[in-house]
Amino acid sequence: MTTRTGRHFLHIPGPSPVPERVLRAMDMPVIDHRGPDFAKLGRAVLEGAQAVFQTKAPVILYPGSGTGAWEAAIVNTLSAGDRVLMFETGHFATLWRSMAARWGIEVEFVPGDWRRGVDPARVEAILSEDRAKSIKAVMVVHNETSTGATSRIAEIRRAIDRANHPALFLVDTISGLGSAEYAHDEWGVDVSVSCSQKGLMLPPGLGLVALSEKALAATKTATLPRSYWDWQDMLKPNAAGYFPYTPATNLLYGLREAIAMLLEEGLPQVFARHQRLAAATRAAVEAWGLEILCQEPSEYSPVLTAVVMPEGHDADALRNLILDKYDLSLGTGLAKVAGKVFRIGHLGETNDLTLMAALSGVEMGLKAGGVPHARGGVLAAMDALRSGLDD
Ligand code: PLP
Repeated sequence: MTTRTGRHFLHIPGPSPVPERVLRAMDMPVIDHRGPDFAKLGRAVLEGAQAVFQTKAPVILYPGSGTGAWEAAIVNTLSAGDRVLMFETGHFATLWRSMAARWGIEVEFVPGDWRRGVDPARVEAILSEDRAKSIKAVMVVHNETSTGATSRIAEIRRAIDRANHPALFLVDTISGLGSAEYAHDEWGVDVSVSCSQKGLMLPPGLGLVALSEKALAATKTATLPRSYWDWQDMLKPNAAGYFPYTPATNLLYGLREAIAMLLEEGLPQVFARHQRLAAATRAAVEAWGLEILCQEPSEYSPVLTAVVMPEGHDADALRNLILDKYDLSLGTGLAKVAGKVFRIGHLGETNDLTLMAALSGVEMGLKAGGVPHARGGVLAAMDALRSGLDD
């Protein structure tokens, strides 16, 4: 006998809840991916994805996950023995670094404390010292999903330019795109990497990359072996709305709908909504007297908030209790912060009331789990949401 009734509350920082509209859009017969109807769908999603990345350059969609799209960024632009600059902002930056190392890339990995984003001044200093211009790429995670800290991509671009350095700029916006402000062209990013199950509000299963002319030029000299991920194989059929192999047809129906939802709301409004929900979440955490993992307010993530547990209390025990009692899923602490933090996702199809439900679940869980905290987080979040609206 189950005690769970009503909806499950999915508040991990991706996969995020899939809107009804997107689920219904995917509930379609599978069509011929070489037929005329598919080309319309193919063109619509490729153009729509450009709007979300805010680019006029090609976007490539793979059946795959974000990790696959990471690999596409590496193998299309780099060669074994190339030097790249990366920063230890958290678990995902560490994983991307390991992938690059497996491809024989020499990674200069600047250590970090997992509590902030990349320091643009550090980027400038390191690149300025590289007089031989041997660093081939700067690789940064935009929204560190393991810590809830963002990196200031536009400022890092300016830092690269100030150092007058030709390195490619590769950015993982896997959990940023569609939630946190992102402008591929304006910010001069060469490859932006993303996936379907976060701000794009789809099930897992698609990897996305947005390119630049410089990134495309780099494919001509990059010598890493590539086949499935090869951009050149994709671009020709993509121009007519087709794929070189069988695409994830029904996910693409969902993507078309999700993009329509984002553009109907308006990207600036989408970004503002995430900022507002994040601010309310932080108000709750502060009122509980708990610590936010990210220590740099200008880098607080609009996508998720990682909360540090009081000494001697296990984050996963709390998460399990909350799942059990309230059917609310919160994100686990990853790698070096396992057991020490839990993460509240506030991305995608989230609004004031879904957030309030999640925060209520956390506050009730803190009490039920005997975790020392002050009451009133939920109230503080409500006040934060109300301020500016009806005060
Ligand atoms: N990079 C970031 C910032 C992520 O949050 C994730 C997944 O959560 C990944 C990379 C890996 O993506 P995927 O799990 O879709 O392969």
